[in-house]
Amino acid sequence: MESNALIWFRKGLRIHDNPALDHARRGSKHLFPVFVLDPRYLDPDPSAFSPGSARSAINRIRFLLDCLSDLDATLRTLGSRLLLLRGDPVPVLCTILKDWNIGKLCYEFDTEPYSLARDKQVKDFASISGIEVFSPVSHTLFNPAVVIEKNGGRPPLTYQSFVKLAGKPPTPHTETYSELPPVGNVEGYELLSVPAIEELGYGDLSQEEFSPFRGGETEALKRLKKALEDKEWVATFEKPKGDPSAFLKPATTVLSPYLKFGCLSSRYFYQCLHNVYKTVGKHTSPPVSLVGQLLWREFFYTVAFGTPHFDQMIGNKICKQIPWRDDEELFVAWREGRTGYPWIDAIMIQLTKWGWMHHLARHSVACFLTRGDLFIHWEKGRDVFERLLIDSDWAINNGNWLWLSCSSFFYQYNRIYSPISFGKKYDPDGNYIRHFLPVLKDMPKEYIYEPWTAPLSVQKKANCIIGKDYPKRVVVHDTASKECRKAMAEAYALDHLGDNLASKEISNGLRRKLDDQKASRPSCLEQRKIRIK
Ligand code: FAD
Repeated sequence: MESNALIWFRKGLRIHDNPALDHARRGSKHLFPVFVLDPRYLDPDPSAFSPGSARSAINRIRFLLDCLSDLDATLRTLGSRLLLLRGDPVPVLCTILKDWNIGKLCYEFDTEPYSLARDKQVKDFASISGIEVFSPVSHTLFNPAVVIEKNGGRPPLTYQSFVKLAGKPPTPHTETYSELPPVGNVEGYELLSVPAIEELGYGDLSQEEFSPFRGGETEALKRLKKALEDKEWVATFEKPKGDPSAFLKPATTVLSPYLKFGCLSSRYFYQCLHNVYKTVGKHTSPPVSLVGQLLWREFFYTVAFGTPHFDQMIGNKICKQIPWRDDEELFVAWREGRTGYPWIDAIMIQLTKWGWMHHLARHSVACFLTRGDLFIHWEKGRDVFERLLIDSDWAINNGNWLWLSCSSFFYQYNRIYSPISFGKKYDPDGNYIRHFLPVLKDMPKEYIYEPWTAPLSVQKKANCIIGKDYPKRVVVHDTASKECRKAMAEAYALDHLGDNLASKEISNGLRRKLDDQKASRPSCLEQRKIRIK
């Protein structure tokens, strides 16, 4: 019997390879395509460190609005439209399911803790109301629960074991539509048109520099097509090779924000890559190939789904307990791109302005904040990335911060990125720094990575006095990194003794023990103060 169906868009903001949409349209008299603007995500927070809400800076919100406009435009070409509502999604959904006499509710399965809790409430309501619920896994290549089951109920903790278990992903839906069932009666509801970012109450944005990357399925498919045209590039892609300082033409696909919002199906991306591989013959393989990058995404989704408290140190069984230091002054300097290390600062400015930077650039600043130089908690860095990245993704962001801080997955804490020589290797002239830190644009290349070494006459000529126009370095890397290595060694030893019993008491105990041990020697912070004065 024909009934009314509702497709609830959250991520999965696309028409292609969208099993929830496909199921919703089949046999339905009316189809209600709904997106609910969630105040939890969007409400302005004037106390946040940059314009936006508490959870997202304006770049990602604008990206989302682009995605919604594009989705609405495509739906309209199919005789439908996006029904945009605002409010707490649970009561909004429960009300419209009843008011619009919905018989079938379809939405893509979402593995994030907030989404799981939200969706459970809606699903429970639908079930007791006799509404059919269809919630397929299509944000990822694999169903994390299935992979975990194959592994005896535990998530695989190495990439290699994950790849072995995962097997081949399902093929994407290839069906295209010439029309969708019409929208039913929505009388009595105030439906919104997609707002512009300026209308959302984030203050005067006229001076803001926005990300060059625009959202939406149309843009995602265009970007994918362009990347795939260069078959040789696809076939020889190898990460971590690639230039993190390339910004006019980034060294990677920049498809992450489109995957994040589901404007691009990962299964479709995967299939397209294999089609290229078939035509070229020889190609790189996981973990370094482009398919390998997609599998990294899957790996982190699986571990995140199967690990309680994945997004924190305390209570997280796979996370080393490390007594990170609290230093608000150093943390804010890092966040605002004022560490005095141009390579680090330029990356943080790119993050603020663009909401995206290359993977190795992310490595550099994450290592610097945590185990490399400042010894500040990875959760604090994670929060900054979470708010500023346009591709901010709960599983991938937490997973990579755990990795970079040597808290999980990767334990070679002696391998520290130099905030000077690492960037110089790729960009000896410092063009990346000059672009994102124009205050250093006239600094001669021999000083661009270490401007504090420039003689005063050179600083004057470059119109950039260190300590006045651009900050002095907040720590001395050689000393700070040595201190960090020592502290990591001590934390690892104690973590081992404590058998990784993740509790607050143990972490506090560790912090006290390390503080006692350190009391007898000067910290890199103290040295920083001595040297900088
Ligand atoms: P490509 O190299 O073109 O790769 C294609 C796709 O593979 C990416 O779009 C992404 O979906 C996936 N991928 C690539 N590298 C990784 C990786 N290391 N882990 C998981 N998936 C990967 N990526 C996010 O999408 N969201 C985040 O919030 C995020 N936070 C990060 C935080 C830190 C500290 C670090 C070091 C990395 C983080 N990454 C994150 C991973 C990675 O840096 C980005 O996915 C990548 O730079 C995106 O650019 P791209 O699309 O051009 O990647």
